[in-house]
Amino acid sequence: MNSEKIRVRFAPSPTGYLHVGGLRTALYNYLFAKKNNGTFILRIEDTDRNRYVEGAVEKLIKALKWAGLQYDEGPEVGGEFGPYLQSQRLDIYKKYADELIAKGKAYYCFCSPERLKTLREEQEKQKLPQAKYDKHCLHLSKKEIEKNLSSAIPKVVRLNIEQNHSIKFDDLIRGHVEFESNNVDDQILIKGDGYPTYHLANVVDDHLMKITHVIRGEEWLSSTPKHVLLYDAFGWKRPMFAHLPLLLNPDRSKLSKRQGDVAVEDYREKGFLKEALINFVALLGWNAGDDRELYNMDGLIKNFSLERVNKSGAVFDLQKLHWLNAEHLRKKSEGELLNLLNEELQKSKYKDQFYSDIYLLMIIKSMKERVSFVKEFIDNCIYFYEAPTQYEQKAVEKNWKPETPEQLQKFKNELAQYDNPTIEDFEHIITKTAEELKIGKAKLIHPLRLAVSGQSTGPGMFDLLFILGKDEVIKRIDSAIQKISV
Ligand code: GLU
Repeated sequence: MNSEKIRVRFAPSPTGYLHVGGLRTALYNYLFAKKNNGTFILRIEDTDRNRYVEGAVEKLIKALKWAGLQYDEGPEVGGEFGPYLQSQRLDIYKKYADELIAKGKAYYCFCSPERLKTLREEQEKQKLPQAKYDKHCLHLSKKEIEKNLSSAIPKVVRLNIEQNHSIKFDDLIRGHVEFESNNVDDQILIKGDGYPTYHLANVVDDHLMKITHVIRGEEWLSSTPKHVLLYDAFGWKRPMFAHLPLLLNPDRSKLSKRQGDVAVEDYREKGFLKEALINFVALLGWNAGDDRELYNMDGLIKNFSLERVNKSGAVFDLQKLHWLNAEHLRKKSEGELLNLLNEELQKSKYKDQFYSDIYLLMIIKSMKERVSFVKEFIDNCIYFYEAPTQYEQKAVEKNWKPETPEQLQKFKNELAQYDNPTIEDFEHIITKTAEELKIGKAKLIHPLRLAVSGQSTGPGMFDLLFILGKDEVIKRIDSAIQKISV
């Protein structure tokens, strides 16, 4: 058995937000590490200075933390293989690029942008499958190279890819993969600005950080031959690779911003629970081999395996996310829901109002089966937070009759005789009033609901009255009688 400790990493390039695809990559790495007693590392790949976005790293870390994907090593947390921001490791990459040059595995290229452009145009005319550098600078004499270096001509460092052989590797998800070296470009390793490209920095860091498994999106599969050649050129052991399937829109096009939300932050703002989002992304390309769909994090850790990740693209089905949200919401304890509701109230127009925990807990109990989002504990029953100012027109037309005010008055007078009416008392008062008026209970209940909530549907009538309480019910009946004109 291999006793090597499993070490995996999530290595995002900070773009300003965490893409849901990135969340899935991070999650699979996290689950794999937790399941195998391994280490989960966050490494920030920020060597593309053109794409630098202020505050992006902080946002990313915040999103990961919100989702519950706490890393064992990385920025803010530290670890013995740091720094974990590539922009702080430039000397390291330079040293390794020099090593490759000394070994003849990489070379300086001084070609001007104009020459590269002409080369590309010529290759396009010849209809070559893809533009490739022609290794011109590989053949410069030592003297020419030294002269160019000392006269500070702009330069890059390129990987020297040997022609006419197959580059082979095994992928834990895709199986055996082969690329023809003739189709792989002499990749730039160090750019004109002295920064490494993703390829060099990624391989050097994965080696130095002792990464055992590289788990990442399928879009990086075509870069893997270059990485494999780099490991071989350095004489390093290759990690295992696992390329995760693409995320697709329901029409099977690649998931893109144009078709909807892709940032974790967007889902969070829309009120999705982290438990639901994690459960949802876990199922994008993985299942445990049965039709179970509802998981919490512990369940995912227990059941996850790379062997059960699919090759084919995973369709992003928002309806399922909505369903999962409702399911996870119902699984929460009333105490947890109370905290979430309080947070939501702080963001709402009711933030300066006081509602006791007991009051909010009663709302939660009565509405729990009727909501899919925490904010619906407010939006779907605003009558618990403020008296109605409007009354559902259709219900008024249907249920508010000329005799209604008098009937509600009678109910109100009955209610006034109770000090602290219980749910049963409310039920009794309704029954008694209806009997005395010689009308069916429904004739009383419908207008009563309308008067106290402004709406025709909602939680059980007796619950509703009890939660609002005697004084509020009386006030609202009075005001409805005044406001509703037939
Ligand atoms: N920096 C790459 C990204 O943004 C990482 C790819 C990899 O995991 O190797 O996704």
